[in-house]
Parts: sequence; C-alpha cells; structure tokens
Amino acid sequence: MPTFTAHGLQTLTHLIATRMGSEKIEADEVADHLVRANLAGHDSHGVGMLPTYVRLLGDGLLVPNQTSETVLDAGALLVIDAKRGYGQRAAGDAVRRAIAKAKENGACVLAFRNASHIGRIGTYGEMVANAGCAFTAFVNVADHRDIQATWGAAQPRLGTNPFCVAVPGADGPSVMLDMATTTIAAGKARVAHNKGIPVADNCLIDADGNPTNDPGIFIRDKLGALKSFGTHKGSGLAIMCEIMAAAVAGGYGAFEPPRGGTLNSMLAIVIDLAQLGGAEETQTRIEATKAYVKSARPAPGFKEVLVPGEPEKAYTAARRANGIEVDDTTWQEIQDSAAKLGITPAEIATAIGANA
Ligand code: NAD
Repeated sequence: MPTFTAHGLQTLTHLIATRMGSEKIEADEVADHLVRANLAGHDSHGVGMLPTYVRLLGDGLLVPNQTSETVLDAGALLVIDAKRGYGQRAAGDAVRRAIAKAKENGACVLAFRNASHIGRIGTYGEMVANAGCAFTAFVNVADHRDIQATWGAAQPRLGTNPFCVAVPGADGPSVMLDMATTTIAAGKARVAHNKGIPVADNCLIDADGNPTNDPGIFIRDKLGALKSFGTHKGSGLAIMCEIMAAAVAGGYGAFEPPRGGTLNSMLAIVIDLAQLGGAEETQTRIEATKAYVKSARPAPGFKEVLVPGEPEKAYTAARRANGIEVDDTTWQEIQDSAAKLGITPAEIATAIGANA
C-alpha cells in the first residue's frame, strides 16, 4: 500500500481538480478539503473521492466554477442554491457567509441546496468553531440510488445523511460530532471492498434484507443497503436530516428521481457564542463538561473515555508524522481517472514528489 505526504496528495489533487476545469481558488479548496479528510482518518471522504468526481464531471452532474444563487438573504436567514457546483467550494463559501451573518445578527440559519458532494461535514464544523461559533448541521444525500435502510425497513429509502455539531475550543474545535447516520459511511464500505476485508456486523443488509458482512454486495453489485445506526433513534435522526435538508432547506430529496449524481443539501445553524452566552463563559463550561465526561472510569477494553473529535485529532497528528496510506485499488482508480484527464504518469510522480 503506497504512503504519501499530505503535501504530495494535495498537489496531485490540485492538478486533477485543475484539469477537471476548476479555477485555482476552487482547486485549492478541493485539495485542502480532501487531504484534511485523509489526515483526520476519514479516507472515505479523502482523495479516494476523486474518481467519483471525474465520473460526475463526465456525466454533467458536477459543474466546476459554478456560481451559486443567493435565493434569500434576509436577517438571520441565508438560502443558497449551489446548482451542482463543486461541493467543497460552494459549501465553504456558503458557510463563510453564514459565519459573517452570525457575527452581525447573533445567529444564522443557512439553507444550502443542491451542491455536488460537499465531502466531510466536519470541515465546515471546524471553520465555524475556529470563528468562535457553534455549528449544527442536518445534511441529506440524494440523486443516487437509496442506500440507507431505516429502522424496520428491508429496503433503502435514504442516503447516508450526515449530522454534525461542533463547538469551539481555545485553538480550534473543542468537541465535534461528525457522522453519517448509517452505521458506517458508504465510503467506508468502498474502502473495505477495495482492501478486500469484510465490514463489521450490523452494518449491511443484502437485497433480501438479510444481514451481510460482504461489502462487495453493496459496492460491486450495487445491491442491499447500509443500516441506520442505533436502532430506532439513529434511524429517526436520519429521517430528520432528510426532512431538514430536503424539505425545510428545500434541497433535492430522496423521494425525487435520481440522475446518478451525488447532491448534498444542508440546514445549518451557526451561533455566535460571544453574543449568546459570552465567549469565555461558554468556553469554560464546554471544557468543564468535556473534562467531567472524560473523568469517568474507562469500561473494560477501553484505555480512556474520548469525546467526539478526539480520534480525528490523534489521527491527524499521526498521519502528519508518518504519511497517508492509500490502498492499492484506490490509488489505481485515482491514476486511471487522472489518465482520463490527460495527466501523464510523469506528472503524477512529480506531483506526489516521487521520481518519474
Ligand atoms: P465515524 O463513525 O468514524 O465517526 C463519527 C464520529 O464519532 C466522529 O465525530 C468521531 O470523533 C466520533 N468518535 C469515533 N470514535 C469515538 C470514540 N471512541 N469515542 C468518542 N467519539 C468517537 O464516522 P462516519 O459516520 O463513518 O463518517 C465519516 C465521515 O463521512 C464524516 O466526516 C461525515 O461528515 C462524512 N459523510 C459525508 C457525507 C456526504 O454526503 N457528504 C455522507 C456521509 C458521511
């Protein structure tokens, strides 16, 4: 399995995004976002997404350099339609505007519609927390075959519909929950399939609704579904993500006919903590809560009690030090899609810092 530096993968991603037609500012954002996802340990949302993005471009389902439409900008409300624009850039721009509005008004409700895949939602949580604000996001994923079977269902009816909450710390996010509402993200089934390993129990069902550990059924055969996490409660959160993103925010819904793309919509709430409870007072109470939760005696088999966001911080430190492994299948897929864009093996080698 090859191992790369973050800088090398970022340079290669920038090259691929540029050859897909993105202007520099967009390629910068895509490259930064994807490699940060790898650094955080979420390979499902890292550079392994590039072959999908190249396919979406070819199918006319991802539009580089798209201008998002501001549907409404009034008081605390901001409604933006990304019109299939490159998700990382469209969502990044929308969230930056939402932060500015929260600084003006105390809070902003962002209804963000119809971007091509926006990637790791935690990236936007980090942006908001770094600005001293709290972030809550309900996200849906539509325009492709349904892949999430909700509680009690033998067939899928939703996407992996992620949910994210982030609050600031002294230097970046203090606590950040960022997760798919399926037991595992779809990309994690792809990574398992590419590595030739089974997925854990209770993650997948086959076409008949029976449990399976074989990611090939889901990835290769495009059958079956990922299960909602946490029985009826996780399933309920998944359904509310769909309703908040597709009905309240007005994005494309799972109930609408898919064209084979990946459309993300999001209902996000950004709160300026300096105006709500006072930045310092809130910060003290966040840290006290975190310390109290972590003070519990670890259960058998656990070394320590973690709060959400800690695993990603540990991963980032380790991968910055040791490099980022990309499994062989994913690496081959990335090279194949680069070749489709006319990128030569020598250009790839130069980008990743290897000898041509
Ligand atoms: P996951 O299951 O690895 O982790 C989810 C959350 O659990 C994280 O906040 C993490 O910090 C926390 N966590 C993990 N282990 C922990 C522990 N031992 N103690 C305490 N907290 C712990 O993530 P996932 O559900 O596979 O999602 C992966 C990524 O996929 C996320 O970044 C998500 O935003 C992204 N995603 C995106 C889309 C999209 O359409 N754009 C769809 C689904 C998921």
